Amino acid sequence: MPVFRVALDLPLHRLFDYLAPETASRDDAGLRVRVPFGRGERVGVIVDVVAGSDWPPEQLKPAGEVLRDLPPLPPDFFALCEFASAYYQAPLGEVILQALPAGLKRRDSPKRRAARPPPPGEPPRLPELTAEQAAAVAAIDVPGAFAASLLHGVTGSGKTEVYLRLIERGLATGRQTLLLTPEINLTPQLEARVRARFPQCTVAALHSELAEAARERNWRAAFTGEADIVLGTRLAIFTPLPRLGLIVVDEEHDPSFKQQDGIRYSARDLAIVRAHQAGVPVILGSATPALESWANAASGRYRLLQLTERANRQAALPAIRILDTRRLPLREGIAAPLLAAISERLARREQSLVFLNRRGYAPVLACPACGWVSHCRRCAANLVLHLADQRLRCHHCGFEQRVAKTCPTCGNQDIHAYGRGTQRVEEWLQDEFPAARILRVDRDAVKSRKQWETMLDRIHGGEAEILVGTQMLAKGHDFPLLTLVGVLGADAALHAADWRAPERLFAQLMQVAGRAGRAELKGEVIIQTQFPDHPLFAALAAHDYAAFADSQLRERQQAGFPPYAFQAILRAEAPQMTDAITFLQAAAALPEVARHGAVQLYDPVPMRLARLANLERGQLLAESASRPALQTFLPAWRAAIESIKTPAKLRWHLEVDPLEF
Ligand code: ADP
Ligand code: ZN
Ligand code: ZN
Repeated sequence: MPVFRVALDLPLHRLFDYLAPETASRDDAGLRVRVPFGRGERVGVIVDVVAGSDWPPEQLKPAGEVLRDLPPLPPDFFALCEFASAYYQAPLGEVILQALPAGLKRRDSPKRRAARPPPPGEPPRLPELTAEQAAAVAAIDVPGAFAASLLHGVTGSGKTEVYLRLIERGLATGRQTLLLTPEINLTPQLEARVRARFPQCTVAALHSELAEAARERNWRAAFTGEADIVLGTRLAIFTPLPRLGLIVVDEEHDPSFKQQDGIRYSARDLAIVRAHQAGVPVILGSATPALESWANAASGRYRLLQLTERANRQAALPAIRILDTRRLPLREGIAAPLLAAISERLARREQSLVFLNRRGYAPVLACPACGWVSHCRRCAANLVLHLADQRLRCHHCGFEQRVAKTCPTCGNQDIHAYGRGTQRVEEWLQDEFPAARILRVDRDAVKSRKQWETMLDRIHGGEAEILVGTQMLAKGHDFPLLTLVGVLGADAALHAADWRAPERLFAQLMQVAGRAGRAELKGEVIIQTQFPDHPLFAALAAHDYAAFADSQLRERQQAGFPPYAFQAILRAEAPQMTDAITFLQAAAALPEVARHGAVQLYDPVPMRLARLANLERGQLLAESASRPALQTFLPAWRAAIESIKTPAKLRWHLEVDPLEF
């Protein structure tokens, strides 16, 4: 009796056996199938067709209809899912099913629709490559065997042009390219550029903001080989591509390539694995590579390709000036030289950007009389004051309430907003420059892709003389009139407890600095800090990523941090912290831990945000100098943890290669 081994979207580390029809064959592997489960029915994926089951035949239920509207998912799709499942300790069924668009997981899948035919267009005119670009393009074989390259290029050095040339070569030989980008919504220009360059080709976008039907249509176009270029966010890494010839990961340092819930995979790291499995080249591109990637380039695992100059000769890199705020009087957090610089830009009809990575009006509201503070009642965090709509809002759990006029504890009418966010800076700059047109750009002002496109149009249309914005503005946009970037609030990240904070700060400041002076106008960046002698600023002022990265890597090596150690983190959440910690202690005391001496466990501790949405959260860090040792330990440990008896409301998960603690 043939048996289907079926992957189901369940948090269980096994496949499910069902009796297959007599006519079933190995060719059915990769097809979707309806199967009875519990009292209902589910759609799963046939991973294998075998002659018999380990289960007694009378316990097996017959499988339902095999869905044949799609060709079978190919072996390389399963190979990648199996790798991700094993590496990230995630159930194979969950990995496989999350990789499929929602429509394909429903019992009645919608009718197949063809992808839109490509619109006819003008053949674009190509810029002549710079010598560095030409060398990078020549160094990568498309089509070719597996090779990982790190394309390190300063902002505006023409990395995208390099990708486009390589995609073109792939197209000429009938290969598909998978182009991953952190957040398509923030970079509609990239999509527009790709479409404009290859008007004769089918470009399929895959990201979470697409409507379900569009996402399924694009996924199908990729899977059937109709799409030539797949442009997607991290979830696109799993898309089956029959003609795959090249993988590009743009802005490869961006933390959003790491999924932070469900299956906690890194799409960047999976891109390397996938390219290796498929035997195709992969390029990681960034102005500020992740230190992991930089270390891989230094050790020779990745080939390093550098673009040290801007592609547009006239667009010199901006001058970076550090303002020592210990010696300067501040008004509303802004020092006089920055205000003067903004005034100059206004007089010259150029644009300024004030960068502050904190939205809202003020991070906290408090009563000086009795000490009341606007805490979130569900989290170990403060409610942020949003004056624009008179709300106090938790940026962690979304809880919100009206702003009280008086102190809720003592009735004091004189409660204060402490610190500042983008709304407050906007308001104050408006008072200071009443005639200036100011646009605030943050997640409160821009909630959808449509709004973002409108905002970009307004900025490009010269509708704003001053922009006040968060990191939304930092990513790959060309604003030709923008010649000044002022940075506020950088110090918070400089001395954060998180040892990755300097890496993120440097990347962010490089990105935002890269916005200044993209065209003929020279740019200037002014950074306010109380720590002007910090080496991070010296490297930044010299536009010297390598100096910064090398010094960070030395520190990490001395401290034994990644990439010189490999980590996994076990997190638990429960209504009571004691339950979470007791569980973590039990996990640390398992015999599997003693059996794997090359893996070290730290003490269970509360997480930095110890309470989120009424749940207390603890964590336990496991670390090893050897990745294989950690990878051998994790499945044994995970299986043993699964047998720990836990209180009903306790939830736990394991994350491999965590970015946040
Ligand atoms: P990056 O991706 O490194 O930020 P882009 O590829 O977006 O850089 O290039 C920055 C700007 O320079 C763009 O306006 C692009 O059209 C232009 N550009 C890129 N390569 C060249 C080149 N070889 N000659 C002239 N302009 C170029
Ligand atoms: Zn009070
Ligand atoms: Zn909250």
